[in-house]
Amino acid sequence: MTTIGNRLQDILAIIHSTISASQYRSASQSVQLLAVSKAQTSQAIREAYLAGQTMFGENYLQEALDKQVQLNDLAIEWHFIGPIQSNKTQLIAQNFAWVHSVDRLKIAQRLNDARPANLAPLQVCIQVNTSNEASKSGVSTNELEALATAIVKMPRLKLRGLMAIPEPSKDYNQQRSQFKQVRECYDALLAQGFALDTLSIGMSDDYQAAIEEGSTIVRIGSALFGARTYGNKTLAPELT
Ligand SMILES: *Cc1c(COP(=O)(O)O)cnc(C)c1O
Repeated sequence: MTTIGNRLQDILAIIHSTISASQYRSASQSVQLLAVSKAQTSQAIREAYLAGQTMFGENYLQEALDKQVQLNDLAIEWHFIGPIQSNKTQLIAQNFAWVHSVDRLKIAQRLNDARPANLAPLQVCIQVNTSNEASKSGVSTNELEALATAIVKMPRLKLRGLMAIPEPSKDYNQQRSQFKQVRECYDALLAQGFALDTLSIGMSDDYQAAIEEGSTIVRIGSALFGARTYGNKTLAPELT
C-alpha cells in the first residue's frame, strides 16, 4: 500500500533529480514543497507532518481554520493559496504565515492593516495572470509593478515573490513556455530592484516543468494525498 509518507519521499526525489538535471537552475537554488491539503482530512495532514512535511497550503478559510484547531499541537507553517474576498482578510492575516494569492491593492491593504503586531510580517506573493484573461484571477502583467510598489511600502507585509496558475496543459513544452512567462515577470521585478526570492509555480501535473523554469515553491496536492474526494461532510462540495 502506498502511504502519504511514501508519496512524499517519491515527490522529494523527483524534485531533487529535476533540479540536478536542469540546465537553467543552479544546484544551490532550492525548491520547497508546499503540501496542498484542501479537501483532505486533518488525519491526512498529520500523517504528512509525521513523515516530515511542515508547510501546508489551504484554499478555503473556514476549512483551514477548523483544521488549524485540530492540528494545533503541530508546528505547521500555514499558507493561504485561494481566492481572497475582502471580508476574509482579517482572519487570514491572523491565522497564516504566508498568502500566495494577493492580486489587488485593496486586499493587500486590508491584510496589512489586520496583521497582528505580535506576529512576523505576513509573507506574501502576488498572483499574476500572464495570459491576461479577464476571467482568471491574478493581476495583469501591466498592473504588476504598481501593485508590487505599493506592497513593499506596507510595513506588516513582506513581499516575497510571484505565484501563478497557468492553464492546465499535458504538453511539457507548453507548460514550460507558460511558466517562462511568469519567470520573465519575476526577473523584470528583480531587475527593477525588488528584493524577491520566491517563485510559487508548479502543481501535481506540471511541477517538473515549473522547476526547470525556476520555481522555488511547488504547490502539490493530489500527487501527495491522492485524488480529492468529498465523502467527508465537513468539506464543502464546491471544492475541486
Ligand atoms: C488545488 C491547488 C493546488 C494543488 O493542485 P494539485 O493539482 O492537486 O497538485 C495548487 N495551487 C493552488 C492554488 C490550488 O488551488
